[in-house]
Amino acid sequence: MNQMLSIVSPMHNEEHGILEFISEIKRIVSPLGHDFEIVLVDDGSKDKTYEVAKSAAKDDKRIKLLKLSRNFGKEAALLAGLTYSQGDLIVMLDSDLQHPPELIPSMVAKFQEGIEVVKTIRTYTEKQSLQSTLASKMFYYIFNKLSYVPIHSGATDYLLISKRVKEVFCSMGEYDRFNRGLFSWIGFESFTFEYVAKERFAGETSFNLRLLIRLALSSITSFSGKPLRISFYVGLCTLGVLFLYLLYVVYDFFHHGTIRGWSSLFFSITMLGSVQLISIGVLGEYIYRIYNEVKRRPHYIVDEKSNL
Ligand code: UDP
Ligand code: MG
Repeated sequence: MNQMLSIVSPMHNEEHGILEFISEIKRIVSPLGHDFEIVLVDDGSKDKTYEVAKSAAKDDKRIKLLKLSRNFGKEAALLAGLTYSQGDLIVMLDSDLQHPPELIPSMVAKFQEGIEVVKTIRTYTEKQSLQSTLASKMFYYIFNKLSYVPIHSGATDYLLISKRVKEVFCSMGEYDRFNRGLFSWIGFESFTFEYVAKERFAGETSFNLRLLIRLALSSITSFSGKPLRISFYVGLCTLGVLFLYLLYVVYDFFHHGTIRGWSSLFFSITMLGSVQLISIGVLGEYIYRIYNEVKRRPHYIVDEKSNL
């Protein structure tokens, strides 16, 4: 049976690179012998990306095009593309040719061996600025310390998944999405390829520092409730330290005759402070429960069944 391969790519201001991307994909995917489709999602581009892609789609019915009503962000654009893709196996990659399409045949070969999630890791080019390398290393360090699903520090959104993994992914109803985290959360046997990142073919990156910080915060909070618990632990620690210090204050009161009122003032301020921190922590605990509930993620995912 010929399995259909879907290529899903989000586009944001890629007018100068998109035709090259399409022809590269065709050149590399055609010899694989799969039926294929290229699902392109225009994520509210401000330039002629949509028009250029549309002209390509007119000549080739395998190019499917979606246009979002505005810029929803890459994660949402990918979700849209995945939802509309019809393949039995799906490859997601950026449309700026920074994810080398030459890797697709090896990824597809892994899928044929029965692996349903093929991931990629980027190793850095010399061109990549030290600053952004450090920032991304730091993000993954913090993320992996806090989160209950690990992500490799070079992990990218260049992935191959099977149709059923796609269906699980699309059924996750949460609003704030961090795809790499979600795919790690979904599980299944995976295999990872490495590649060296290339320069963009054309155009420029859509991500600035402000956007990256927002993404980092939302991905950490959607995969970890630990920040909510911080005040609880801080409260416990101050209470412990306070108790030791209190012994000293009482000793001081009787032996050196400290200024009247100081001990009681010190006691009430620090005591109240710790009690407040602990109460905030308890509130955080309840908010964490609500937060987990409103995400409505499925409770479990079945990998295989027999005799059922
Ligand atoms: N992209 C998108 N919507 C956005 C920003 C980016 O669909 O709001 C697409 C973009 O066209 C590209 C991919 O996501 O195919 C990665 O974006 P970019 O190359 O700007 O990010 P970088 O590679 O610099 O991390
Ligand atoms: Mg890029």
